[in-house]
Amino acid sequence: MPELPEVETVRRSLARSLTGRRIVAVDVRERRLRTPLRPAELRRRLIGRRIRALGRRAKYLLVHLSDDQIMVLHLGMSGRLAYVARHKPLEPHTHVRVGFDSTKELRFRDHRRFGMLFVVQESHLERHPRFARLGAEPLDASFSPQYLSARARGVRKPVKNFLMDAGVVVGVGNIYASEALHRAGVHPARAAGRLSAARWERLHAAVRETLHGALSAGGTTLNDFRDADGSEGEFQVELRVYGREGEPCLRCSGTVRRVVQAGRSTFYCGRCQR
Ligand code: ZN
Repeated sequence: MPELPEVETVRRSLARSLTGRRIVAVDVRERRLRTPLRPAELRRRLIGRRIRALGRRAKYLLVHLSDDQIMVLHLGMSGRLAYVARHKPLEPHTHVRVGFDSTKELRFRDHRRFGMLFVVQESHLERHPRFARLGAEPLDASFSPQYLSARARGVRKPVKNFLMDAGVVVGVGNIYASEALHRAGVHPARAAGRLSAARWERLHAAVRETLHGALSAGGTTLNDFRDADGSEGEFQVELRVYGREGEPCLRCSGTVRRVVQAGRSTFYCGRCQR
């Protein structure tokens, strides 16, 4: 499943190709995505508009258009975007084609069809049901140790589950949460409300480092839109604990253990994570 670093990588890649282009055609070949597509509305709201910028909120790609419109794309479990020559033969599961005032078009492929494509008015974005409850962006300046510690006040649930709560901070998936806790030396089962300010400092830095690590690794496969079925998971990050049950900790001589928290595997070192 594409995670935040992969979506950010796609955003950066598309920004270079699409910024300033005008949409001239919208061809919906399959309406049945996670939310049904509305071809007539899409054409009416997209055609003729110019792309001002490419943004991202959580794992939503935001294509900012002229006239206060945003084309929102979500890759779901298996979505792929490619900006390719218009005459190039269509690959299977190509559901939407967006043509531009160039010789190329944007193609959205998604064989599992959990992806989404819809248009919102920019001034309504923050009130939109899919955006209204989203927490902090982990790579933004507003995401700080103070923010985490304030949100965790009185919270008894384990810090790992707290980090994975998209209402607190978006984009910290299961693998990233385990990795960040290990980097910070924080035990995953510790109650979120009981972490000291110093620990929030370390954990905040660790979340950023983990995501940045995946981002810089993602940069090397920028245009590699493979036929992956999503099983490759949170991509390219160098895993220090995840999936290493029974193996030695890379920091101390402890052993990596696995527990299940909220139905998901957590990997940690019982010796250096307290
Ligand atoms: Zn250790």
